[in-house]
Amino acid sequence: MPSDLSQPINPLRLAKARERIVGKIQLNSMARLKGILLSHKGELNYSLAFDFNEASVCIIESDIETQLILECQRCFEPVEVDIRKNSLLGIVDESDEIDSLAKEYEPVQLDEDGVITVEELVEEELLLSIPLSALHPENKCAATNDVNRINAEAKRQPFADLAALIKDKN
Ligand SMILES: [Zn+2]
Repeated sequence: MPSDLSQPINPLRLAKARERIVGKIQLNSMARLKGILLSHKGELNYSLAFDFNEASVCIIESDIETQLILECQRCFEPVEVDIRKNSLLGIVDESDEIDSLAKEYEPVQLDEDGVITVEELVEEELLLSIPLSALHPENKCAATNDVNRINAEAKRQPFADLAALIKDKN
Protein backbone atom coordinates (compact mmCIF):
# COMPACT_ATOMS: atom_id res chain seq x y z
CA MET A 1 0.00 0.00 0.00
CA PRO A 2 1.51 3.35 -1.03
CA SER A 3 1.99 5.64 1.93
CA ASP A 4 2.17 8.68 -0.32
CA LEU A 5 -1.23 9.08 -1.99
CA SER A 6 0.25 11.16 -4.79
CA GLN A 7 2.57 8.24 -5.65
CA PRO A 8 1.45 6.67 -8.97
CA ILE A 9 -0.08 3.19 -8.78
CA ASN A 10 -0.42 0.69 -11.62
CA PRO A 11 -4.02 -0.66 -11.60
CA LEU A 12 -3.25 -3.52 -14.02
CA ARG A 13 -0.46 -4.80 -11.83
CA LEU A 14 -2.64 -4.46 -8.73
CA ALA A 15 -5.51 -6.27 -10.51
CA LYS A 16 -3.23 -9.22 -11.36
CA ALA A 17 -2.49 -9.57 -7.66
CA ARG A 18 -6.17 -8.82 -6.83
CA GLU A 19 -5.01 -6.18 -4.37
CA ARG A 20 -7.17 -4.00 -2.16
CA ILE A 21 -5.97 -0.60 -0.97
CA VAL A 22 -7.66 0.80 2.13
CA GLY A 23 -6.84 4.12 3.77
CA LYS A 24 -7.73 7.66 4.70
CA ILE A 25 -7.14 10.93 2.89
CA GLN A 26 -7.40 14.42 4.36
CA LEU A 27 -10.08 16.60 2.75
CA ASN A 28 -7.73 19.59 2.72
CA SER A 29 -5.30 17.70 0.47
CA MET A 30 -7.79 17.58 -2.40
CA ALA A 31 -7.26 20.70 -4.49
CA ARG A 32 -10.39 20.32 -6.64
CA LEU A 33 -12.62 20.55 -3.56
CA LYS A 34 -11.53 24.12 -2.89
CA GLY A 35 -14.46 26.47 -3.33
CA ILE A 36 -16.99 23.66 -2.84
CA LEU A 37 -16.52 22.98 0.87
CA LEU A 38 -17.15 25.47 3.66
CA SER A 39 -14.74 23.54 5.88
CA HIS A 40 -11.79 21.41 4.83
CA LYS A 41 -11.43 19.71 8.18
CA GLY A 42 -11.98 15.98 8.29
CA GLU A 43 -10.96 12.96 6.30
CA LEU A 44 -12.30 10.47 3.84
CA ASN A 45 -12.15 6.67 4.16
CA TYR A 46 -11.60 4.75 0.95
CA SER A 47 -11.32 1.19 -0.21
CA LEU A 48 -10.13 0.32 -3.73
CA ALA A 49 -10.26 -3.32 -4.82
CA PHE A 50 -8.53 -4.19 -8.10
CA ASP A 51 -9.54 -7.08 -10.36
CA PHE A 52 -10.39 -8.09 -13.94
CA ASN A 53 -13.97 -8.74 -15.08
CA GLU A 54 -15.11 -11.55 -17.43
CA ALA A 55 -14.33 -9.32 -20.45
CA SER A 56 -10.74 -8.97 -19.12
CA VAL A 57 -11.25 -5.28 -18.39
CA CYS A 58 -9.30 -4.05 -15.40
CA ILE A 59 -11.87 -2.95 -12.83
CA ILE A 60 -11.74 -1.19 -9.48
CA GLU A 61 -14.45 -1.55 -6.88
CA SER A 62 -14.36 1.78 -5.11
CA ASP A 63 -15.96 2.61 -1.80
CA ILE A 64 -15.66 6.07 -0.26
CA GLU A 65 -17.18 7.45 2.91
CA THR A 66 -16.90 10.88 4.49
CA GLN A 67 -18.80 13.85 5.88
CA LEU A 68 -18.65 17.22 4.11
CA ILE A 69 -19.59 20.73 5.19
CA LEU A 70 -21.44 22.30 2.26
CA GLU A 71 -23.52 25.46 1.88
CA CYS A 72 -27.26 24.96 2.26
CA GLN A 73 -28.84 26.23 -0.97
CA ARG A 74 -31.90 27.50 0.91
CA CYS A 75 -30.40 29.43 3.86
CA PHE A 76 -26.68 29.59 2.82
CA GLU A 77 -25.61 28.33 6.27
CA PRO A 78 -23.26 25.34 6.65
CA VAL A 79 -24.87 21.91 6.36
CA GLU A 80 -23.28 18.52 7.15
CA VAL A 81 -23.74 16.03 4.37
CA ASP A 82 -22.90 12.33 4.75
CA ILE A 83 -21.26 10.89 1.66
CA ARG A 84 -21.15 7.19 0.88
CA LYS A 85 -20.41 6.06 -2.64
CA ASN A 86 -19.81 2.56 -3.91
CA SER A 87 -18.97 2.21 -7.57
CA LEU A 88 -17.36 0.04 -10.19
CA LEU A 89 -14.67 1.71 -12.27
CA GLY A 90 -13.47 0.28 -15.57
CA ILE A 91 -10.02 1.11 -16.90
CA VAL A 92 -10.06 2.18 -20.57
CA ASP A 93 -6.98 2.86 -22.73
CA GLU A 94 -8.55 5.07 -25.40
CA SER A 95 -11.58 7.34 -25.30
CA ASP A 96 -13.32 5.21 -27.98
CA GLU A 97 -13.25 2.28 -25.58
CA ILE A 98 -15.59 4.13 -23.21
CA ASP A 99 -18.57 3.24 -25.46
CA SER A 100 -17.80 -0.48 -25.29
CA LEU A 101 -17.56 -0.45 -21.50
CA ALA A 102 -20.58 -2.00 -19.78
CA LYS A 103 -22.94 0.59 -18.32
CA GLU A 104 -22.34 -0.39 -14.70
CA TYR A 105 -18.76 0.87 -14.92
CA GLU A 106 -17.50 4.43 -14.65
CA PRO A 107 -14.69 4.87 -17.19
CA VAL A 108 -11.24 5.77 -15.89
CA GLN A 109 -8.31 6.67 -18.13
CA LEU A 110 -4.76 6.18 -16.99
CA ASP A 111 -1.70 8.31 -17.70
CA GLU A 112 0.47 7.46 -20.70
CA ASP A 113 2.56 5.30 -18.39
CA GLY A 114 -0.51 3.27 -17.37
CA VAL A 115 -0.58 4.76 -13.90
CA ILE A 116 -2.83 6.92 -11.75
CA THR A 117 -2.68 8.11 -8.15
CA VAL A 118 -4.99 7.10 -5.31
CA GLU A 119 -5.57 10.81 -4.76
CA GLU A 120 -6.86 11.30 -8.33
CA LEU A 121 -9.14 8.26 -8.16
CA VAL A 122 -10.61 9.14 -4.79
CA GLU A 123 -11.01 12.86 -5.54
CA GLU A 124 -12.88 12.09 -8.77
CA GLU A 125 -15.22 9.71 -6.94
CA LEU A 126 -15.86 12.29 -4.25
CA LEU A 127 -16.62 15.05 -6.78
CA LEU A 128 -19.14 12.74 -8.49
CA SER A 129 -20.87 12.08 -5.17
CA ILE A 130 -21.33 15.69 -4.01
CA PRO A 131 -25.00 16.70 -4.23
CA LEU A 132 -25.65 19.65 -6.59
CA SER A 133 -28.05 21.15 -4.13
CA ALA A 134 -27.20 20.56 -0.46
CA LEU A 135 -30.09 21.35 1.88
CA HIS A 136 -30.83 21.13 5.60
CA PRO A 137 -33.82 18.99 6.52
CA GLU A 138 -36.82 21.36 6.27
CA ASN A 139 -37.43 21.55 10.02
CA LYS A 140 -33.77 22.42 10.66
CA CYS A 141 -33.24 24.99 7.90
CA ALA A 142 -33.13 28.65 8.89
CA ALA A 143 -34.74 29.70 5.59
CA THR A 144 -37.64 27.26 5.99
CA ASN A 145 -38.15 28.48 9.53
CA ASP A 146 -38.37 32.04 8.19
CA VAL A 147 -40.79 30.95 5.48
CA ASN A 148 -42.87 29.06 8.03
CA ARG A 149 -42.94 32.06 10.33
CA ILE A 150 -44.02 34.37 7.50
CA ASN A 151 -46.67 31.87 6.40
CA ALA A 152 -47.91 31.48 9.96
CA GLU A 153 -48.13 35.26 10.35
CA ALA A 154 -49.96 35.56 7.04
CA LYS A 155 -52.44 32.94 8.21
CA ARG A 156 -52.99 34.76 11.49
CA GLN A 157 -53.62 38.05 9.71
CA PRO A 158 -57.27 37.58 8.67
CA PHE A 159 -58.22 36.82 12.28
CA ALA A 160 -56.30 39.84 13.52
CA ASP A 161 -58.21 41.98 11.02
CA LEU A 162 -61.47 40.41 12.10
CA ALA A 163 -60.66 41.06 15.75
CA ALA A 164 -59.92 44.72 14.92
CA LEU A 165 -63.16 44.94 12.98
CA ILE A 166 -65.20 43.56 15.89
CA LYS A 167 -63.43 45.93 18.24
CA ASP A 168 -64.29 48.89 15.96
CA LYS A 169 -67.98 47.92 15.93
CA ASN A 170 -68.10 47.94 19.69
ZN1 LIG B 1 -30.66 25.59 5.34
